[in-house]
Amino acid sequence: MQEKKSTDLSRRSFLKISAGAAALNCLSLPAEAATGTETQLSTIIDLNLCDGCTGRKIPACVDACRTINKNRIPPVVANIPEPWPRKTIEDWSKKKDVTDRLTPYNFIYVHKAEIDMAGGPKTIFVPRRCMHCDNPACATICPFSANSKKKNGAVVIDQNLCFGGAKCKDVCPWEIPQRQSGVGIYLKVLPGFMGNGVMYKCDLCNERLKEGNLPGCVEACPREALLIGRRSDMEKIAGERARAQNGCIYGKKENGGTSTLYISPVPFELLNKTMEKKPGQPAMQPDVVRRMAGTDPLGKAVLAAPLLGLAAAGFAYACNRFFRRREQVKKEEGND
Ligand code: SF4
Ligand code: SF4
Ligand code: SF4
Repeated sequence: MQEKKSTDLSRRSFLKISAGAAALNCLSLPAEAATGTETQLSTIIDLNLCDGCTGRKIPACVDACRTINKNRIPPVVANIPEPWPRKTIEDWSKKKDVTDRLTPYNFIYVHKAEIDMAGGPKTIFVPRRCMHCDNPACATICPFSANSKKKNGAVVIDQNLCFGGAKCKDVCPWEIPQRQSGVGIYLKVLPGFMGNGVMYKCDLCNERLKEGNLPGCVEACPREALLIGRRSDMEKIAGERARAQNGCIYGKKENGGTSTLYISPVPFELLNKTMEKKPGQPAMQPDVVRRMAGTDPLGKAVLAAPLLGLAAAGFAYACNRFFRRREQVKKEEGND
């Protein structure tokens, strides 16, 4: 009964159902949030409601995300230059259909945790994607300023500026960003010696938010397990739901706070212990300390080298302008 009350409250608080019952599918953000830029938003992922879309070939949230982002990666060059000194090439262009892990073509997947509960074994389904951290280490470390935290809470990688060095993945507590080699600006600068592709991850559907639309995964979820709204409302609702379930919240403090609040009926220590971890299927370790806070060794090293970062960012900006201008000139010449 309490959960029903909580669900009703959450719907009233952050979803507007337009023009009565006939418009039940027309869910939208509150008017001021629809600007997508000024209102700080947060999301809830309620593991008590998610059933993994059992019975569907691909979960609805994953399917929606893939449809929205299907043209995001441009064609990959036939001969991907071998990077130096590390010779790792990451090419997912022939494995676009993979949906059970994070890849550059798949920004959300559903992780499973098999839990031994008092009443017998239970499967908990955990949709995983970028947490949209309050102090994102991925953005702090990016030497090209290609990654930034927006006012609405979204952490967005600018694919036109990214060189695919994957430092953002190294510092992310959940190793979220994924690289596709053989695309991006590095091919036009020093392929083989500088960069190795472009990093991709969930951007909270920032472009859709700007137009007043819900993120694709939130809109598609048939069980309303994914919700979005004003941050203060989401925090209140997450607290109420967690209390009603005698459950736990993840994401409020982890990595110094995030714009994503998981609610689970079982402790996250237990969830994490029982989740199988593989590349692209990250752990969900509790109490993640804030990365790049200036106190950890990696943070100190990076913060001690701001000039290098500034120089690199200036270089990337200049390169990007140069190549854009060159493409524009080519187009204009073609039109003559
Ligand atoms: S979050 Fe919703 S759409 Fe995604 S797997 Fe769970 S129930 Fe399905
Ligand atoms: S989860 Fe990782 S990729 Fe996402 S904002 Fe946080 S540090 Fe960046
Ligand atoms: S918010 Fe958008 S980009 Fe992120 S997982 Fe959902 S559909 Fe994909």
